[in-house]
Amino acid sequence: MKKILLIATGGTIASKYTNSGLSPQIDAAELLSYVPEAAEFCTIDTVEPFSLDSTNMNSTHWLTLVGLIERKYEFYDGFVICHGTDTMAYTAAALSYLIQNNRRPVVITGAQKPIDLAITDARSNLLDSLRFASHPRAHGVSIVFGGKVIAGTRAKKEFSRSYNAFSSINYPDIASIHDDRIIFYIDDKDQNTSPLVFYHELNPKVFLLKLIPGIRGDVLDLLFDHYDGLLLESFGVGGLPNYGDDSFLRALEKWSAAGKLVVLGTQVTHEGSDMDIYQVGKVIKERCGILESYDMTLEASVTKMMWALGQTGDHDACRDLFYKTINHDLLFV
Ligand code: ASP
Repeated sequence: MKKILLIATGGTIASKYTNSGLSPQIDAAELLSYVPEAAEFCTIDTVEPFSLDSTNMNSTHWLTLVGLIERKYEFYDGFVICHGTDTMAYTAAALSYLIQNNRRPVVITGAQKPIDLAITDARSNLLDSLRFASHPRAHGVSIVFGGKVIAGTRAKKEFSRSYNAFSSINYPDIASIHDDRIIFYIDDKDQNTSPLVFYHELNPKVFLLKLIPGIRGDVLDLLFDHYDGLLLESFGVGGLPNYGDDSFLRALEKWSAAGKLVVLGTQVTHEGSDMDIYQVGKVIKERCGILESYDMTLEASVTKMMWALGQTGDHDACRDLFYKTINHDLLFV
C-alpha cells in the first residue's frame, strides 16, 4: 500500500456556512472521513499547517508547504494538498518551481462545494487525488480536479462555479481519471534523471499590470521603486501602446537600465505571445530587453519570476532561469 500525506490548507472543500459567509472549518481528519474508499489502496496521515480561504495565501505559505514536503519527503510515496480553488493555479505553479525533478507526486485539489454537502464535487476530487497520488507513474506537481490531471504550471481557473473549473492551457492534460481508472496522456516519469532540488527563496516583489486601451506608460514610474519584476499583460500576441509620447519606451528603458526583470504576457488565454510579429512589439522588445511569457500562463509567469528573482539578482542569469522549461511550462521559446 502506498503511504500518502494529506496536507489540508482550507478552501471551499473544507468550508462550512457561517453568518459571515463560507469559511474553512473542516479539519484534515474530517475531510478523510468522507472518502473511506481510499483505505482500499493507500494509508494516509494528515497535517494542517494552516487553514485559509486561498484568497489569503501568499508566497510565505508556498514556502511553508515546500518546507513541510521536504521534511516529510522520504517518509511518503505521495502528497495531496487540499486547497482553495481561487489561487490554486498560483500555488501549483509556485510549487512546480520550488520542487524540481521530483519523482513523487504532489497533487493539489479542492472543490467548488464543501465536502459536507449532499451534492458536491469535493468527494470525487479528493478520492481522485488520493488515487492519482498512489499511482506508480504519477510524479511532479499537478492539479487533480473534475476528473483531469493538469501539470502544475499549466492550470487556470476558468469557471467560477462549475465543477470543471480548471483547464490546462496550451498543453494537454497529463491524465484523466474515471472512477478507479487513470489514463495517462503524458507518461514521462523516467525522462528526467536530474537530482531532486528544493528551493527556499522567492522574491515576491513582482507586479502584474493589465493594459487597457489608453493606459499611459508613466504608471510604471510609480511602481519602479517598489518592484524588481514587472509582468505586462498585453494585447494579442504582444505589443505596447505608443500614443505619440513614447511613455512606455521611456519608462521601460529605465527599468531595463536598472537591471529589473520585465516580461510581456498576453490577456488572451490560449496560444501565447510572440512580440516579434508586430512592430508595436518587436521594436520595444529589442530596445528594452523585454522577455516574453510565450505559451506560459500568467500564473506560471508570475511565480517563475518570483522564483528566478529569488535565486539571482543578475539579469542574464534570471533570463536563463525564466526561459528554462520546468514541469512542462514552456514549449515555445
Ligand atoms: N474562496 C475559496 C478559496 O479559494 C474558493 C474555493 O475554494 O473554491 O479558498
